[in-house]
Amino acid sequence: MGLLSLGTPLPWIEGRKYADHVRSHGITQFLHIWDRLKNRQGDELLWGDEVEYMVVCFDDETKTARLSLRQSEILQKLANVVADLEASNDVPAEFNAVPLFHPEYGRYMLESTPGAPYTGSLQDLLSVEGNMRYRRKLARRYLKPHEIPLTVTSFPRLGAPGIFTEPYYDPRNAVASHSLFLPQEITNPHARFPTLTANIRERRGSKVAINLPIFFDTKTPKPFIDPTIPWDRRVYLEDEEAKNGAALVDHIYMDAMGFGMGCCCLQLTFQACNVTEARRVYDALIPIGPIMLALTAASPAWRGYLADVDCRWNVIAGSVDDRTEEERGLKPLEENKFRISKSRYDSVDSYISVDWRNRREYNDNPLPYDPAIYDRLCNHGIDDLLAKHIAHLFIRDPLVVFTEMIDQDDTISSDHFENLQSTNWQTLRFKPPPPKSSIGWRVEFRSMEVQITDFENAAFSMFIVLLSRAILSLGLNFYIPISKVDINMDRAQKRDAVNQQKFYFRKDILAPGRTIEFPYTDPVTSSAPCGCNGSLNTATPSVNGTNGSASANDSSPSPPCSERSLPSHRDNILRNCFPDVEPPPLLERPPVEDEYQEISINEIINGKGGLLNNSTDGYPGLMGVVNAYVNSLDVETQVKDRIGRYLDLIKRRADGTLITAATWIRNFVRAHPGYKFDSVISEEINYDLLKAIDEVCAIIVV
Ligand code: ADP
Ligand code: MG
Ligand code: MG
Ligand code: MG
Ligand code: MG
Ligand code: MG
Repeated sequence: MGLLSLGTPLPWIEGRKYADHVRSHGITQFLHIWDRLKNRQGDELLWGDEVEYMVVCFDDETKTARLSLRQSEILQKLANVVADLEASNDVPAEFNAVPLFHPEYGRYMLESTPGAPYTGSLQDLLSVEGNMRYRRKLARRYLKPHEIPLTVTSFPRLGAPGIFTEPYYDPRNAVASHSLFLPQEITNPHARFPTLTANIRERRGSKVAINLPIFFDTKTPKPFIDPTIPWDRRVYLEDEEAKNGAALVDHIYMDAMGFGMGCCCLQLTFQACNVTEARRVYDALIPIGPIMLALTAASPAWRGYLADVDCRWNVIAGSVDDRTEEERGLKPLEENKFRISKSRYDSVDSYISVDWRNRREYNDNPLPYDPAIYDRLCNHGIDDLLAKHIAHLFIRDPLVVFTEMIDQDDTISSDHFENLQSTNWQTLRFKPPPPKSSIGWRVEFRSMEVQITDFENAAFSMFIVLLSRAILSLGLNFYIPISKVDINMDRAQKRDAVNQQKFYFRKDILAPGRTIEFPYTDPVTSSAPCGCNGSLNTATPSVNGTNGSASANDSSPSPPCSERSLPSHRDNILRNCFPDVEPPPLLERPPVEDEYQEISINEIINGKGGLLNNSTDGYPGLMGVVNAYVNSLDVETQVKDRIGRYLDLIKRRADGTLITAATWIRNFVRAHPGYKFDSVISEEINYDLLKAIDEVCAIIVV
């Protein structure tokens, strides 16, 4: 969740009146940022993770595991602890700052981030696991004895009959969501969250409706008509929706934002050296989103049942789907302006890089956008791709408007812009620099499910940061038509997708004429400038343009990237600003349909053909290029080995020798003596499962 504004949030009927105001000023604010920072150059690689936890309250006597709703108290405590640590300088030497803890949608959730972003140093890279463990330890230390922060993606009995929170609250009181299953108190009490929940429901004109296919076990009744739905409840008008078609046969039905936004995930944010590089990394990671979703799959259990899917994605997408019937194409357009094919939480809709690799044909999804906003952006000199991206985000309405925030100084605020930007929850987020800060252009990678252990969370973080460097260093190309990425998103969520599904992936991922061998010895020789005149991790960034931010000045110009000591990489630093490779002559480009194939995740990650080159029978795989990049860093074997330990996890997940958390959870439930092979996860199974998860963590964390 982004920053929490303070103030009085307007109910939908009032807030909607300001939609155009917020959009119009949001664009003005973006244009101010753009004018100031479009030429900002030379930002170093800074990056960071976000890890989300559920605080689970165990009762070993009654064998129950419930969600603790003490978020506010816990965060308050952690804030004090963090301040104390800072004051007493009691932070382990390897971390440059005390970790941060943030609120999240669920009142049982916590989010932690490193106290300051990691730099590109290998030392920082190798400190990620320790940093995550330290955060977990801190959180643990300030909870009650029976409360444990667990990194599980979905809570198996959230919304199941009986008691699943501590303390108990009745769902009849769900005044914001009108849910049949989740009480009001499941939601963070900060006014933003209940308002968001209610306004989504009101804008949509009904409750959200999520239906996950049930996992048919040997004794699951067929057809499956869920006996746990209070079909005949009459508390809210929407109670009738379930029996009037919203709840599907053979599915697990969920009807509230909390089912999705109450899930935990692992996110990563990278700073790019300039806006062009940010757009390139953003695009390159789009096709990676579904692959990593499948590899991190961790959520097979929902509302007390095993589902036939392993991931949270469609649940969250459905849980904030505020589109009206008109927008969903169920009625002719009258009140609304656009038909919209996806929820505001979904996979990315368009590539935005201006780099030569990005062929026009790849953006093959319908992309409704606001033409007036598009024109405004274009008239301001913004290119077609970025203008469409922003004008597409801005087809949505602002969901929460605070009265105190309606009038802003657009030259220094980005609040209206962020109102739309931060409620478009896509697999990747392109983050412009916030005003009044020294932060540069960033990209956030958002598809991954959180892993049970910090070792795994660190491994996936490392893999993605190294892959992002390999993309830049080796000039990699992952483009496939974006409609194929969407198909991959659907496949990624299926049960055991890693082993059972094939995915669309690009055949030639290397730069033209490039081959990869082990050990990687082929240095980047191109001297084509990347447009960056910036610096390595030592100097301050420079800003070309008016009104540069205070900490960014033009002092000590460093040589352009192309003149630096690349490719030696001898300073052991992961960098931004690699010189780009030349495009091939246009004539040589094959039809788009010939550029991709359907292959397994094992092949996508580990390569195929045994030959580590790009010939037709060999394909290096993402691990091949990551290894090539790591080898190019010319680091000691010992460091390489340490990185290798983490990368091994991804390698082995991909080849099926290690199972995903989703498979592990499914197997655990099915092997439990209390399981009746009817897809039901009882309180006892839930308790034993979460206990086991805690034990796994404890063993590995020691
Ligand atoms: P949000 O909730 O908006 O996605 P958070 O503030 O929770 O963002 O997390 C952002 C992550 O980005 C954190 O891990 C943080 O350490 C990291 N970060 C902070 N500053 C930078 C920066 N300049 N460049 C890259 N990452 C950064
Ligand atoms: Mg979060
Ligand atoms: Mg966050
Ligand atoms: Mg934030
Ligand atoms: Mg985030
Ligand atoms: Mg979809």
